[in-house]
Amino acid sequence: MPNPKRKHTPHRRDCRRSANSKLKQPTLCKCLNCNSMKISHRICNTCGFYAGKLILNKSTQKVTTPISYKEK
Ligand SMILES: [Zn+2]
Repeated sequence: MPNPKRKHTPHRRDCRRSANSKLKQPTLCKCLNCNSMKISHRICNTCGFYAGKLILNKSTQKVTTPISYKEK
């Protein structure tokens, strides 16, 4: 049965292990609405658009009291 000729150094071992644990940069693309950089397949953080449609209205994102609270 083949055996390794020499023991690998701790540096070589650690380099091998760290090669698979690096964080990847998220893929960025331009927003179709405001041309700012955004993470692909996510709602734009600047304008709230996704695929040309308004999903999250950024101008009226302030917390408003629900209707049930106003009635009581
Ligand atoms: Zn945008």
